[in-house]
Amino acid sequence: MDLSLYRLHCCWKLKQLLQGYEHILKQRLHQSTDLVSFILELKTVLEVSIKNHPVSDSIPPPQYYSQLILEMETLGWDKLLFIDTQFQMLKMKAEDSSGRQHILTINLKNKHPAEAPECSADLPVPFLLKWTPQSSLNQLHSQFLLVIEALTEFWDVLDEIDAKTWILEPEKPSRSDTVRRIAIGNNVSIKVEVDPRHPKMLPECCLLGAEHVVTPLRNKLNANMHLWNADSGVLQNLQDVLEIEFPSPATHEKSMFSVDCGICYAYRLEAAIPDQVCNDPRCGQPFHQVCLYEWLRVLPASRQSFNTVFGECPYCSKPITVKMAALQS
Ligand SMILES: [Zn+2]
Ligand SMILES: [Zn+2]
Repeated sequence: MDLSLYRLHCCWKLKQLLQGYEHILKQRLHQSTDLVSFILELKTVLEVSIKNHPVSDSIPPPQYYSQLILEMETLGWDKLLFIDTQFQMLKMKAEDSSGRQHILTINLKNKHPAEAPECSADLPVPFLLKWTPQSSLNQLHSQFLLVIEALTEFWDVLDEIDAKTWILEPEKPSRSDTVRRIAIGNNVSIKVEVDPRHPKMLPECCLLGAEHVVTPLRNKLNANMHLWNADSGVLQNLQDVLEIEFPSPATHEKSMFSVDCGICYAYRLEAAIPDQVCNDPRCGQPFHQVCLYEWLRVLPASRQSFNTVFGECPYCSKPITVKMAALQS
């Protein structure tokens, strides 16, 4: 008997159970010699499916929906940005006192509110939800507001840096990014990491660029660190401590700081920017780490010691080195 032309019709509940097993069923239908052996195969598939997703867990009970509507009415529908077709994933908006919009993504469990929902948001700190079976979306939203309110100072600091300086990295900072690489000059930049809990304190700083420019700046940073004044802005403090003015969009073009790699002639190579700089003051040519490594590796004049390759700058032939450690990651 040929079963390959047979079609299987089922009720919605059975359909849901067999979701993801369609190809197996089709295959079994072709291979089975008679209807009885196919039914036995179907039984086995169903048993596996039920074991993997019990029916009671795949669809919430009816009271889930009435509860959800009740909670949304209390919270206000204007806070809802998005809800999926299963009514389980919600995106809610919240505004901090500086007028920034934030989005909280909530995945409700079938046993909501008995079981805590899963939440995620674009924050520099984890969102630790306090939830009891009596909790509601309204309380969840209030907790989120408290968290973003506690971070307004952190975002104020970063917004000022983003607006008044040229940021080389990250390309498009998100609200969770705590690090900024700020352009100081041609091939010189500073990487600062702002602490979300203490945003006005001296951030972690790392100067990047050619040695002859970086060394005097590093010395100033060390010598003036004690002048840091938590009452004035982080940007102002950085300028005072380093004794510089950061180039800003008001005074400079970004192209002055985003010099292309001298080997591949591009600025961005995947996420990397050219951050290996020739230390010769008359050259100062930047390269991508990967490009410089690949370039030096094949030259007979280069030598390698542990994770460092020593060679000559492709532009000025002065000695240049590149570390390989970060390349393998
Ligand atoms: Zn390159
Ligand atoms: Zn050079």
